[in-house]
Amino acid sequence: MASKPHVVVIGAGVIGLTTAVFLAEAGYVVTVVAAHVPGDSSIEYTSPWAGAHWRTHATVDEPEQCDWDVQTFQYWLELVGKEEKDSKVPKSGLRLEESIHYWDGPVTEDLWWAPHVLNFRQLNTFAEPIASINATRPAHAPEIKWGATSQAFSINVPQYFLYLQERARASGAVIFQSKLPTDGGLEKVLSAAEGIAHALKRGKVECFVNATGLGAREVCGDEGMYPIRGQTVLVKGEAKATRTRYHGGKIGEGSTSYVIVRPGSGTTILGGTKEKGEWSAVPDEATTKRILERCGWMAPELLTGKDGGFEVVSVQAGLRPGRVGGPRTEREVVKGRQVVHSYGHAGGGYQNSIGAARKTIGLVGESVGKGARARL
Ligand SMILES: Cc1cc2nc3c(=O)[nH]c(=O)nc-3n(C[C@H](O)[C@H](O)[C@H](O)COP(=O)(O)OP(=O)(O)OC[C@H]3O[C@@H](n4cnc5c(N)ncnc54)[C@H](O)[C@@H]3O)c2cc1C
Repeated sequence: MASKPHVVVIGAGVIGLTTAVFLAEAGYVVTVVAAHVPGDSSIEYTSPWAGAHWRTHATVDEPEQCDWDVQTFQYWLELVGKEEKDSKVPKSGLRLEESIHYWDGPVTEDLWWAPHVLNFRQLNTFAEPIASINATRPAHAPEIKWGATSQAFSINVPQYFLYLQERARASGAVIFQSKLPTDGGLEKVLSAAEGIAHALKRGKVECFVNATGLGAREVCGDEGMYPIRGQTVLVKGEAKATRTRYHGGKIGEGSTSYVIVRPGSGTTILGGTKEKGEWSAVPDEATTKRILERCGWMAPELLTGKDGGFEVVSVQAGLRPGRVGGPRTEREVVKGRQVVHSYGHAGGGYQNSIGAARKTIGLVGESVGKGARARL
């Protein structure tokens, strides 16, 4: 019998790993069981395909998600501060970058997040960087009507992923790769995960965390789960700033183009699409062409190819775990087994990961009946 509660986290995406880190650092015995782990590449594994940066999609009528995003921003700020002060602190791959937002039309949404990022200010459309974009855009492209800049986080996704994995292991978490059977409902999934934990001699399982992303559709039969496909292009060079352009839509909706620096990697991610209900892993050529054309006006410093275009490294697509009604973070008891669900984080799984993990840990604490609080 383990001296501290043993929690099995199912899933090793950004949500499962962040939760595992915080649980292990709070003293729980943690076993992660996942079909895919850092280093794997699969359309069933969303996290490696993300851009990624901190750009909230939460709106004022989603106060919990706004709060999660703000918590993550503040936590990362402290983390990066520690890395800068002490060269021995492992590097997360997070970097504060200038983050510029462009709108092709008037801004209709509430920019509630402005006070929560650093140095937010509105950009004058007659001055740089907007003036030169508007001057060089093709005739058919709309003019930029509004802009804003601030400092926000860009993430070197592969590095951040390994960082989370190592941090979880450093606090004693064990990560075991296995696809759990989904032909017998959640009860069978939990029973199989329990069998693995038993075989690993990790002790009695007192709680499960279900962080299976889009996989929750099969894992617990949640038919509200659906893919939001995103196609991206990785190119050589690091853009001078992260940029997001909203083509008429609101933040998190409609069509956007983005240029996201992958700090320290010598590359930048260009995007992108948000295709609800689309499952294809195969990149679409016409979409790639459109992404390269739109991003060319936003990041001319990356047009270093011999033909005057981008130097393309790879083209890929990932499936954001969308959910009708938003993320599911709640407790459930399945035939006597305690479960905390944390999935359905759609296009915001990185930027809400810290706030969401803190909530999950609170729910795990309630589930194991000790009111355990995480030392975060
Ligand atoms: C193109 C693109 C750009 C994005 N940009 C951003 C961004 O800029 N900022 C941001 O915050 N977010 C961004 N996102 C969203 C973000 O990537 C997701 O919200 C996040 O990755 C979801 O993580 P997750 O851990 O819930 O799911 P996943 O990463 O999919 O992890 C799910 C885990 O569950 C496991 N699993 C599933 N089923 C089973 C089973 N039966 N047995 C065992 N294990 C199982 C999987 O193997 C995996 O380990 C982007 C996503 C895409 C596709």
